[in-house]
Amino acid sequence: MNLSVVVPLLNEEESLHELYARINKVCQENQLSYEIWFVDDGSTDSSWQIIENLSKENHHVHGIKFSRNYGKSQALHAAFEKVQGDVVITMDADLQDFPEEIPELYNKIVVEKYDLVSGWKKKRFDNVMTKNLPSKLFNSAARNLSGVELHDFNCGLKAYRKQVVKSVDVYGDLHRWIPVLAANAGFKKITEKPVQHQARPYGTSKFGTERFIRGFLDLITLWFVSKFGGRPMHFFGAVGTLMFIFGFFSAFWLGATKLVDVYYYHVYGNLIAENPWFYIALTMMIMGTLLFVAGFLGELIIRQSRGHKNYHIEQVL
Ligand code: UDP
Ligand code: MG
Repeated sequence: MNLSVVVPLLNEEESLHELYARINKVCQENQLSYEIWFVDDGSTDSSWQIIENLSKENHHVHGIKFSRNYGKSQALHAAFEKVQGDVVITMDADLQDFPEEIPELYNKIVVEKYDLVSGWKKKRFDNVMTKNLPSKLFNSAARNLSGVELHDFNCGLKAYRKQVVKSVDVYGDLHRWIPVLAANAGFKKITEKPVQHQARPYGTSKFGTERFIRGFLDLITLWFVSKFGGRPMHFFGAVGTLMFIFGFFSAFWLGATKLVDVYYYHVYGNLIAENPWFYIALTMMIMGTLLFVAGFLGELIIRQSRGHKNYHIEQVL
C-alpha cells in the first residue's frame, strides 16, 4: 500500500463528507493505493454514523471510535498502530488543510526521500491575537530548544515515512512535537512545505490558548527526557552533589570560625544561627541530598523497566 491518510476528529460532522470526497478524488487521480483512517475521538454529534456509512460505501475507509474524548495525540497513536501505507499523512478534519496537497507531500517522502515533511501555514487564516502571534513566538522558542528547523510545528498536515510513525510514541499532548520525537529517534531528514490554509468553515476550534502553555511545558519535558531520560543521575546527582558540597563547606566554615572565636579570642556572643549563611548552608545541604536521592530513584526506576527499549534500530544485517 502506498498511502495511509489519518484524520483525527472531534465533532466535525459538517466537514466529513466533503473531506472524504476530496481525499478520495486526489488519491484516485494520482493512482495511489490508499487507505483512510478516521479516528473519532469521542464525538457526540453524528460523526461516527457518517464514518460508518463511508466505510460501507468504500473499502478504503476505516474508522476507530474512542469511548470518550482522549485527545488528538491518542487518536493519532491509535491510527499509527494500524496504518499500512509506506507514507502516512495526517490531516485535520475541519477542512482547514487541503487534501489537494497530498501528492506533493507524498513525493517529498518517496522521491526526495525525506523522513518527515511538515506543512507550513505560511499564509494563515486564524485570529491574529489568539493564534498567529503567540504561535510565532512559540515556534521560534521551539526551534531554538529542539534544534528542529520548522516554522509551524503544530500544523495538522504532515507526511511521514511509515517507520517514523511506528517508532514515535505519541501520548499526552505530544502531537505538536512529533517532529522533535522523530528527530530524537534518529529521523533527521525533516523538512517543511508551505501549504494552503483556510479559515474553519464549520464548528469551532477544539483547542484554546492554554495550548501554548501546555505545548511549552511539553517541549521542556522532551528536551530534558531526550538529554537525561536514560541517565537521570548525571543531572540530579551532579547538581545535588555540587549543592551539598557548597552547603557543607559553608557550614564547616561557620562552625570553624565559631570555634576559633570561642577558644582563641574568647568571644562567646556570636550565634551561628544569627548568620544568614547558616540558613543558606542548611538549605543547600538538604536540597542537594534531595536532588541526589531523586537521581538515584530515577536510576532505580530505569533498572526496573529495562524491558522497555528506549532505542530504535534502523537496520540489522
Ligand atoms: N481533535 C481531536 N481531538 C481533540 C481535539 C481536536 O481529534 O480532543 C481534532 C479536531 O477535530 C481536528 C483536529 O484535531 O480535526 C485539529 O483541531 P482544531 O481544528 O480544533 O485545532 P486548530 O485548528 O484550532 O489548531
Ligand atoms: Mg483547525
